[in-house]
Amino acid sequence: MAHPTQPNDIARETFKQLATRRIAPTPQNYQRIYHEVAGTSPTDSNPATRLLSIVRDQAARHPETPGLRTLQRGLEQFDWDVVHGALNAWGDTRAAGGSSGAEFASAMREALRLVEVAHRGWTPARKRESLDRVLQNFANDVGLPAKLRALARSWAESGPDTAPDAAGAGATLVGGARPAGTLSATDLRAMGVTSSGPGATLVGTPAATAPGDPAEPDRTVSELRDLVAVVLESGVAPRLERYGDVLADVQAITRRVRDARSAADIAPLSTLMKQLWMKIEMRVEPDEELVDHVMRLLGLVVENLGELVDDDQWIQGQIDVLRHLVNQPVDLRTVREAERGFREVIYKQSQLRKGLVDAKQSMKALLNTFVLRLGQVTASTSDYNEKLDRYAARINGTDTLLSLQALVDELMADTRSMQLDMVRSRDEFANARVSAEAAELRVKQLESELERVSSQVREDTLTGVMNRRGYDDAIGREIARAERFRKPMCLAVIDIDNFKRLNDQFGHATGDAALVHLAKVMKHTVRPTDVIARYGGEEFVIILPDTACAEAVVATQRVQRALTRKFFMSDNERLLITFSAGVAEYRPGDTDATLFARADGAMYSAKQQGKNRVVEAS
Ligand code: GH3
Ligand code: MG
Ligand code: MG
Repeated sequence: MAHPTQPNDIARETFKQLATRRIAPTPQNYQRIYHEVAGTSPTDSNPATRLLSIVRDQAARHPETPGLRTLQRGLEQFDWDVVHGALNAWGDTRAAGGSSGAEFASAMREALRLVEVAHRGWTPARKRESLDRVLQNFANDVGLPAKLRALARSWAESGPDTAPDAAGAGATLVGGARPAGTLSATDLRAMGVTSSGPGATLVGTPAATAPGDPAEPDRTVSELRDLVAVVLESGVAPRLERYGDVLADVQAITRRVRDARSAADIAPLSTLMKQLWMKIEMRVEPDEELVDHVMRLLGLVVENLGELVDDDQWIQGQIDVLRHLVNQPVDLRTVREAERGFREVIYKQSQLRKGLVDAKQSMKALLNTFVLRLGQVTASTSDYNEKLDRYAARINGTDTLLSLQALVDELMADTRSMQLDMVRSRDEFANARVSAEAAELRVKQLESELERVSSQVREDTLTGVMNRRGYDDAIGREIARAERFRKPMCLAVIDIDNFKRLNDQFGHATGDAALVHLAKVMKHTVRPTDVIARYGGEEFVIILPDTACAEAVVATQRVQRALTRKFFMSDNERLLITFSAGVAEYRPGDTDATLFARADGAMYSAKQQGKNRVVEAS
């Protein structure tokens, strides 16, 4: 019969043999049958391995002798402390009368039987682990069979497990799945058999990779070790960047996981991990509380803002949106959406304020003219009254027609000039009224413009690309198309870098011109079928139909390169505009919100990674 070569097959066959031939499932028997099945021999010319083979032979022939297994393990691992301890304990046990081999075998048999029985809260892997720990910790102890029985009892007392056993034998574990019935390296070690066969050392040492030997379980262990290290490194550490000390702990544990080569290395890790989780829990919880407080604060600000701008419909509408957002359960997307809304409100408000200030100033100028003219009119009228009084006196004191005739001529001339004054003033009043009405009209236009922009128009008035509403329509359409025709589709979210600084340095008009410039460059660079929209403020989006992620990243980078060639000019000065972008590909089942959230998240990491780059959403 051909010998199996795969360690899993050898292990399975060994168990079968132990069961069918009714051989006690002691580590030594397991090892003996293992070699028999694999067709390998535990002999070697090396003196240490010779000794090991003698000990193995002894252990196989006298399985009841306590400490032999530990001695064997010590030799296998070249761990002379263990060898020493085993020999000492052996001597002590012999002096004390020793424990019965049959007792050990029956305790072990019972424990092994219970490993695969489902118990609440126990997976076979966890059971094997605890079994291994007991075997290691009490190898030299006469009470080993009692400890084994106590362990088996603790499993049985947990009660039967009726729920589907997600982490149990046969379940699929990400990255580390093992088919049911196969043994891990830990199991093999627990049985006193190193996974790399006789005379070999433990996991990770060069001897473990001898050609043709059953090195597979070693690889599983090292893969698992790497997996744990990667989870700590890439999954846990990045979330703790703000907590230097906890991060240092994670890094230290990661290093220890990577360096772990024996069960003795692994044992303290579980305590360290427990301490780490407790630390994380204690630090992270206040963070959540903090977020709650910030959101409540934000709610108050929104309420307050709402009262301040009571009379403006557009801003009131935006405030309602914000109020709704801050009342939802908080997540990153909600907060960023709220932030975006706030920026928009603040910006539009500043625009509106500027318009109102302008209008107020021209009204003031008109009123000044009005008052001035009114003063002049009053002055000339009182002048005329005085003159009339004087004329009356003169008329009373005149008795010749000739002199009266002269008076009438004088009076007529004065009346004419008075009439002229009146006409001039009336014209000026009329002009003043026209200007005042024009100013009022400007304010009204400004208000209705704001309403129009936010309620009906699909196009951004400044840049000529689609606005947020246009985008909402377009993305709905494109998602439906991608779904129906099973075509790829991407969304790029673009946010100008340091735009506030540009506004502050060169003024809002320059900022606006920069937005127009960017929109123009985008229009010239992307495909005609791509949809460009201004999502808000200085954020743009590009919908790229029929485009997979890698291609969309290239297209977005093309816009970046075009910006470095086509400079934005302001007052004869060349200004380089850069942006950060996130690209996400549509996945079946995506809504516009989930797709946007992924692209937006990627854009956010582009900012965090130093800006002026395109990041693909994971
Ligand atoms: P970052 O690189 O992190 O994106 O920095 P930033 O300064 O661009 O970021 P932030 O989003 O904080 O600032 C955006 C600024 O854009 C705020 C606002 O003053 C300005 N802004 C928003 N909309 C307009 C607009 O229509 N015209 C002009 N000129 N500025 C706008
Ligand atoms: Mg922004
Ligand atoms: Mg920005």
